[in-house]
Amino acid sequence: MRLASVAGTRLAVVADDRLVDVTDALGLAVDRRGPLQALLERDDPAAELRALDLAALPSRPLDGAALDAPLPRPGKVVGAPVNYRDHQAEMREQHTVADLGVFLKAGTSVVGPGGPVRLPYRDVRTDQEGELGVVIGRTARHVAADRALDHVFGYVPLLDITVRSGEDRSTRKSFDTFTPLGPWVTTADEVGDPQALRLRCWVDGELRQDASTADMVFGVRELVAYASHVMTLEPGDVIATGTPAGVGPLAAGGSVAVEITGLGRLEVTVTDEGAVAYADRPGAR
Ligand code: MN
Repeated sequence: MRLASVAGTRLAVVADDRLVDVTDALGLAVDRRGPLQALLERDDPAAELRALDLAALPSRPLDGAALDAPLPRPGKVVGAPVNYRDHQAEMREQHTVADLGVFLKAGTSVVGPGGPVRLPYRDVRTDQEGELGVVIGRTARHVAADRALDHVFGYVPLLDITVRSGEDRSTRKSFDTFTPLGPWVTTADEVGDPQALRLRCWVDGELRQDASTADMVFGVRELVAYASHVMTLEPGDVIATGTPAGVGPLAAGGSVAVEITGLGRLEVTVTDEGAVAYADRPGAR
């Protein structure tokens, strides 16, 4: 199943070219964390979804609908630094996720399809990183890699937008709008092997990244296992699994798109509205 959020408070199943509204059928009480979060916090979301009679529910055309981020305020976004060998080479980085561990992005950095991504600094490069996003469905703590996928609800295209300043990694990746997520979450049963997906990312229509998730250093299983050894992963948490080679600067007025096999295409625009010079950031000396 593909699960989208519309109008901030409604959960829809994407069925062919229709959005079927399942909010009332599931009795979802909605807050600012969104209707999918409310569903994921229940005992068995997959069973509830399977029990729905979609043909009997109200629907509207997918075409032209404005979709929101499926999870607008995840409890946490866990990131994997340097998790593809070709990206390790382009960054001239000696280490990988095996040495660096994971990092956190602020939940408030999430933005939905369309964006915009806001460039914070006029004079410091901000890059796109196209990534496979993993949505946790079941609480995970000290989970072994061979059981890790039992804790995954689904997958979603994600952009890990990053400023290449000297600031700490969590700062550089946590500006508001720096985690575009969407267009929807596809449940794990429809995805199969998460290490056999093609990921492509375009900036201003130019293909910058074209890779297979088979080339991750830590696969989804290993990332869930590793992260759950550090922190409790909760339903609705998102893991950004790292980016392949081909990262590069964004420019105001431009666009970014990331597409992953079977998961859809996420597109956002880029603006420098509100950007400041790096030397003018608060507290700079
Ligand atoms: Mn990244």
